[in-house]
Amino acid sequence: MRFGLDQLIPEAINLIHGPGCPVCVTPLELVDKAIEIAGRPDVIFCSFGDMLRVPGSQKDLLAVKAAGGDVRIVYSPLDAVKLARSNPNREVVFFAVGFETTAPANAMAVVHARQQGLANFTLLVFHVLVPPAMEAILSSPQNRVQGFLAAGHVCTVMGFAEYPPLAQRYRVPIVVTGFEPVDILHGLLLCVQQLETGRAEVENQYARSVRPEGNRTAQEIVRQVFQVVPRKWRGVGNIPKSGLGLSPAFEAFDAERRFGVADHTVEEPAECISGLVLQGVKKPPECPAFGSRCTPEHPLGATMVSSEGACAAYYRYRRPAR
Ligand code: SF4
Repeated sequence: MRFGLDQLIPEAINLIHGPGCPVCVTPLELVDKAIEIAGRPDVIFCSFGDMLRVPGSQKDLLAVKAAGGDVRIVYSPLDAVKLARSNPNREVVFFAVGFETTAPANAMAVVHARQQGLANFTLLVFHVLVPPAMEAILSSPQNRVQGFLAAGHVCTVMGFAEYPPLAQRYRVPIVVTGFEPVDILHGLLLCVQQLETGRAEVENQYARSVRPEGNRTAQEIVRQVFQVVPRKWRGVGNIPKSGLGLSPAFEAFDAERRFGVADHTVEEPAECISGLVLQGVKKPPECPAFGSRCTPEHPLGATMVSSEGACAAYYRYRRPAR
């Protein structure tokens, strides 16, 4: 969007944002749980900055901070571990949201906390996994996707051994692609060449970063600390085996257990069609609220909050002139 690639390529190629932004797929009820925990007087609640503006059903974490809650932006989960060490009388919670890319550092934080005997550090975990989401999209009756640019950073950690069965079963090319404009164009070229020659294979465009086996050290620490669990994706719904939760050996570090935050489900605002945007069925400008009742300053849905969100990208780079 930023470099106008979608406008430069032939019209026959329709680029669709998938559920590729962790902020955008975090369900409303988890944001509500974060808000409930962050509002407690004994808690220091730590998060990456972009989660603070994601709307819950009533308010966001910034509102909790404005009302006096101790909500802090950190740049690494290890900073939250340091806070727990220096504040032994407070509970320090880190909002561990992300794909496979952020799971190793979060796992490392838990291992460090255990090594240091910190009983006042927990994670509020919402980790999601890319391949099950790709399969959910491909198996949907509404699916329009004919090829994938698989995220290069996820594959840098996980490798791409999980993709050949998907490519074969659903007959789609999957090209592991980097993030520079030339990477995207090269990924598209490889994808289109496969479609035009009737192939459905996995190719690695981002070989300067991605090895087929990924980063085994990172995978090992993730395996130690987390286990595969079902997850509810905002806008997409429940997907089996699509997330990571703390394994039984580390459940003492689970903020949901520590604070007993109630399981409750919350409906998305009826006006927001971000679920359809995330599934590639609609584009953001097709939403009646886009750019009027929903803007990055006053977002109705998570895809308008994160700079990686589809609605925010369209707002920033493709807003029609008024
Ligand atoms: S423009 Fe706003 S209301 Fe519409 S889909 Fe995007 S986030 Fe939801």
